[in-house]
Amino acid sequence: MSSEKKKPTVFIVEDNEFHLRLARDLLEAHGMRVLHSAAPMEAIALIERSKPDLILMDLSLKEANGLEIVRRLKENPKTADIPVIALTAHATKRDEANARAAGCNGFIVKPINTRLFPKQIIDNLKASEG
Ligand code: MN
Repeated sequence: MSSEKKKPTVFIVEDNEFHLRLARDLLEAHGMRVLHSAAPMEAIALIERSKPDLILMDLSLKEANGLEIVRRLKENPKTADIPVIALTAHATKRDEANARAAGCNGFIVKPINTRLFPKQIIDNLKASEG
Protein backbone atom coordinates (compact mmCIF):
# COMPACT_ATOMS: atom_id res chain seq x y z
CA MET A 1 0.00 0.00 0.00
CA SER A 2 1.49 3.30 -1.06
CA SER A 3 -0.68 5.64 0.93
CA GLU A 4 -1.64 4.84 4.49
CA LYS A 5 -3.44 8.18 4.69
CA LYS A 6 -6.08 7.32 2.13
CA LYS A 7 -7.29 4.25 3.99
CA PRO A 8 -10.57 4.83 5.79
CA THR A 9 -9.99 4.85 9.54
CA VAL A 10 -12.35 3.02 11.89
CA PHE A 11 -12.06 3.60 15.64
CA ILE A 12 -13.25 0.63 17.72
CA VAL A 13 -14.27 1.15 21.35
CA GLU A 14 -14.48 -2.42 22.65
CA ASP A 15 -13.38 -4.11 25.88
CA ASN A 16 -13.68 -7.70 24.77
CA GLU A 17 -10.44 -9.02 23.28
CA PHE A 18 -12.18 -11.62 21.11
CA HIS A 19 -14.70 -9.18 19.58
CA LEU A 20 -11.97 -6.58 19.06
CA ARG A 21 -9.64 -8.96 17.28
CA LEU A 22 -12.36 -10.32 15.02
CA ALA A 23 -13.58 -6.86 13.98
CA ARG A 24 -10.05 -5.52 13.56
CA ASP A 25 -8.89 -8.45 11.42
CA LEU A 26 -11.95 -8.23 9.16
CA LEU A 27 -11.66 -4.47 8.65
CA GLU A 28 -7.89 -4.52 8.07
CA ALA A 29 -8.35 -7.35 5.57
CA HIS A 30 -10.73 -5.02 3.71
CA GLY A 31 -8.24 -2.16 3.50
CA MET A 32 -9.24 -0.16 6.54
CA ARG A 33 -7.02 1.30 9.23
CA VAL A 34 -8.16 0.39 12.73
CA LEU A 35 -7.58 2.33 15.97
CA HIS A 36 -8.77 1.14 19.34
CA SER A 37 -9.36 1.88 22.99
CA ALA A 38 -11.40 0.16 25.71
CA ALA A 39 -11.12 3.05 28.18
CA PRO A 40 -13.90 5.67 27.88
CA MET A 41 -11.89 8.85 28.58
CA GLU A 42 -8.95 7.69 26.50
CA ALA A 43 -11.28 6.76 23.65
CA ILE A 44 -12.88 10.23 23.64
CA ALA A 45 -9.46 11.94 23.64
CA LEU A 46 -8.06 9.69 20.90
CA ILE A 47 -11.18 10.12 18.74
CA GLU A 48 -10.90 13.92 19.07
CA ARG A 49 -7.31 13.74 17.96
CA SER A 50 -7.47 11.08 15.23
CA LYS A 51 -10.79 12.14 13.62
CA PRO A 52 -11.70 8.64 12.36
CA ASP A 53 -14.15 8.17 9.48
CA LEU A 54 -16.34 5.88 11.58
CA ILE A 55 -16.66 4.79 15.22
CA LEU A 56 -17.72 1.31 16.31
CA MET A 57 -19.00 1.50 19.88
CA ASP A 58 -19.48 -1.45 22.19
CA LEU A 59 -22.46 -0.41 24.30
CA SER A 60 -21.50 -2.48 27.34
CA LEU A 61 -18.07 -1.44 28.50
CA LYS A 62 -16.75 -2.31 31.93
CA GLU A 63 -15.99 1.31 32.77
CA ALA A 64 -18.99 3.05 31.21
CA ASN A 65 -22.25 2.79 29.37
CA GLY A 66 -21.31 3.10 25.70
CA LEU A 67 -24.36 5.30 25.06
CA GLU A 68 -22.99 7.84 27.53
CA ILE A 69 -19.81 8.04 25.46
CA VAL A 70 -21.86 8.41 22.28
CA ARG A 71 -23.78 11.32 23.83
CA ARG A 72 -20.54 13.02 24.78
CA LEU A 73 -19.09 12.55 21.30
CA LYS A 74 -22.27 13.94 19.73
CA GLU A 75 -22.23 16.99 22.03
CA ASN A 76 -18.63 17.74 21.12
CA PRO A 77 -18.29 19.86 17.95
CA LYS A 78 -14.94 18.18 17.19
CA THR A 79 -16.52 14.73 17.02
CA ALA A 80 -20.25 15.28 16.46
CA ASP A 81 -20.12 14.61 12.71
CA ILE A 82 -18.35 11.24 12.94
CA PRO A 83 -20.85 8.43 12.35
CA VAL A 84 -21.19 5.94 15.20
CA ILE A 85 -22.28 2.32 14.82
CA ALA A 86 -23.41 0.62 18.03
CA LEU A 87 -22.19 -2.93 18.70
CA THR A 88 -24.28 -4.82 21.18
CA ALA A 89 -25.48 -8.26 22.19
CA HIS A 90 -28.82 -6.72 23.20
CA ALA A 91 -30.98 -6.63 20.15
CA THR A 92 -34.47 -5.57 21.16
CA LYS A 93 -36.32 -2.77 19.37
CA ARG A 94 -36.00 -0.75 22.54
CA ASP A 95 -32.21 -1.21 22.63
CA GLU A 96 -31.98 -0.02 19.05
CA ALA A 97 -34.29 2.94 19.73
CA ASN A 98 -32.15 3.93 22.74
CA ALA A 99 -29.00 3.73 20.62
CA ARG A 100 -30.53 5.89 17.88
CA ALA A 101 -31.78 8.40 20.47
CA ALA A 102 -28.24 8.71 21.87
CA GLY A 103 -26.98 9.57 18.40
CA CYS A 104 -25.90 6.22 16.93
CA ASN A 105 -26.21 6.13 13.14
CA GLY A 106 -26.34 2.35 12.94
CA PHE A 107 -26.71 -0.75 15.06
CA ILE A 108 -24.94 -4.11 14.66
CA VAL A 109 -25.77 -7.10 16.84
CA LYS A 110 -22.98 -9.26 18.31
CA PRO A 111 -21.75 -11.78 17.60
CA ILE A 112 -21.10 -10.11 14.25
CA ASN A 113 -21.78 -11.95 11.02
CA THR A 114 -18.24 -12.23 9.64
CA ARG A 115 -19.50 -12.46 6.05
CA LEU A 116 -21.71 -9.35 6.24
CA PHE A 117 -19.75 -7.19 8.67
CA PRO A 118 -17.18 -5.66 6.26
CA LYS A 119 -19.95 -4.67 3.84
CA GLN A 120 -22.01 -3.16 6.65
CA ILE A 121 -19.05 -0.99 7.59
CA ILE A 122 -18.17 -0.05 4.01
CA ASP A 123 -21.81 0.91 3.33
CA ASN A 124 -21.77 3.19 6.38
CA LEU A 125 -18.51 4.80 5.26
CA LYS A 126 -20.02 5.48 1.83
CA ALA A 127 -23.24 6.85 3.32
CA SER A 128 -21.27 9.35 5.39
CA GLU A 129 -19.13 10.57 2.50
CA GLY A 130 -22.03 12.85 1.58
MN1 MN B 1 -18.15 -5.08 26.30
